Amino acid sequence: MENRVVIVGGGLAGLAAAAALAPRGCAVTLLEARPRWGGRASSFVDQTTGETIDNCQHVSMGCCTNFRHFCQSVGLDAYFQRERRLWFIDEQGKTSVLRAAALPAPLHLAPAFVGLRFLSWHDKWNLARALDRLARTGAAGGDEPFLEWLKRHGQSPAAIDRYWRIVLVSALSETLDRIETRHARKVFADGFLAARSAWEVWLPTVPLARLYGDKLQAWLQRQGVAARLQCGVQRVCLAEGKVYGVELRGGEVVAADHVILAVPHHLAPSLLPDSLHAHPDLAGITRLETAPISSVHLWFDRPISPLRHATFIGRLSQWMFNRALIQQPPVANPGSTGWYYQVVISASREVIARPQEEVIRQVVGELAAIWPAAGAARLQHARMVTEHKAVVSMVPGVENLRPPQQSPLRGLQLAGDWTRTGWPSTMEGAVRSGYLAAENILRNMQQPAALVQPDLPVAILSKILWKL
Ligand SMILES: Cc1cc2nc3c(=O)[nH]c(=O)nc-3n(C[C@H](O)[C@H](O)[C@H](O)COP(=O)(O)OP(=O)(O)OC[C@H]3O[C@@H](n4cnc5c(N)ncnc54)[C@H](O)[C@@H]3O)c2cc1C
Repeated sequence: MENRVVIVGGGLAGLAAAAALAPRGCAVTLLEARPRWGGRASSFVDQTTGETIDNCQHVSMGCCTNFRHFCQSVGLDAYFQRERRLWFIDEQGKTSVLRAAALPAPLHLAPAFVGLRFLSWHDKWNLARALDRLARTGAAGGDEPFLEWLKRHGQSPAAIDRYWRIVLVSALSETLDRIETRHARKVFADGFLAARSAWEVWLPTVPLARLYGDKLQAWLQRQGVAARLQCGVQRVCLAEGKVYGVELRGGEVVAADHVILAVPHHLAPSLLPDSLHAHPDLAGITRLETAPISSVHLWFDRPISPLRHATFIGRLSQWMFNRALIQQPPVANPGSTGWYYQVVISASREVIARPQEEVIRQVVGELAAIWPAAGAARLQHARMVTEHKAVVSMVPGVENLRPPQQSPLRGLQLAGDWTRTGWPSTMEGAVRSGYLAAENILRNMQQPAALVQPDLPVAILSKILWKL
């Protein structure tokens, strides 16, 4: 039986593929170039505090059914906390809470929406009409830049800036002029309109390194996966049109019947045979665009906010996470290294052009304007982390550039949040790509299995209104 699978890349796509294939009779080898697992969803030790901190807070939603399935199947779901309230704070410090009422979708968030204090009545009315029109565009959505679509549908600058931008920049990490309408629609349809629990936010309660490092690696080891860190692959080996393994940077060849290339899109072409680069399925890879995400990590000498997290309106700071409260079990003595907060700035192109100290000062000033305790507190330590190629941008036309998982070569699958999953570049997209690649391998081995999980069941009213 041809069951040897080599997976190149220990990010979520590679990890999900390994978790799906190992229990199904495959001899899996997982190769990761870096000294840690998790790829773009990983942690590192902050030298000043000695704490393991994430490169950036990672958030999942109820509609991310494959990511959740992956976490459940490898025993990680206990390390996530479900958040059923979202706090929005405007420039005046007024707080609005988004929470579901005891109503079926899509009405569940309507009372909270009506109560949002940072939108005018006029904007709320227009917004609701535009949401309805957006849902009616159908799944194909259209490839118009979403900003144009919003203007065509009578959205005021305030509604665009204080609602549409707030949701989409967090979800897709792009500016509205660089988001395809189809992807904007997906966020609102899947995340807010289709199912009652879809909008709920899931936060990891431990650093990502503990999830995808210690916890997951122990599980994979029990399944017989040979997982190797600091094992960079330099090329996929090919003979007579068939892949037979991969060559490591040191020259060692690891034999395989199937290879899954689960590296970031900008690194994939250099590992593939030159002859493949012009193939119509793969020619678009080098034209995929990316967006940066920055996170400002702050350690104060005292608590500055009673909230676990908060989204800000009209500020540079977009989303604050109070790690001392989110962490489980609660940090025993947060005062020993300081009270740790993280502020996320997605689509942070303007931020990275500025000096870090200036950005940190602005973020601290914004927190102090909302919570006076932040102004009185002593900032013990601060750092900014930017991932320059954080996500693939869902720009108009992007779907034509994303390759399917089955490559033109027998024995070679592609995986990663950048491949064609129907999802944006997220943990859910990465897991889906890993499952899709694994499904192809199992089909080729004459052992077909359905790995990709269904979406949440659509509420009856959402089906009737919008055929979601
Ligand atoms: C700052 C930031 C914030 C984010 N926030 C969120 C969020 O809140 N919610 C969300 O859903 N998503 C978020 N994302 C996106 C999410 O992290 C990614 O979509 C997902 O982790 C991508 O997984 P992947 O496996 O496709 O790719 P990657 O994570 O990039 O994994 C690819 C792996 O391949 C390895 N590799 C590369 N070359 C080689 C080689 N030659 N040999 C062996 N290994 C190699 C890399 O080291 C890496 O580990 C965020 C991303 C960033 C950067």
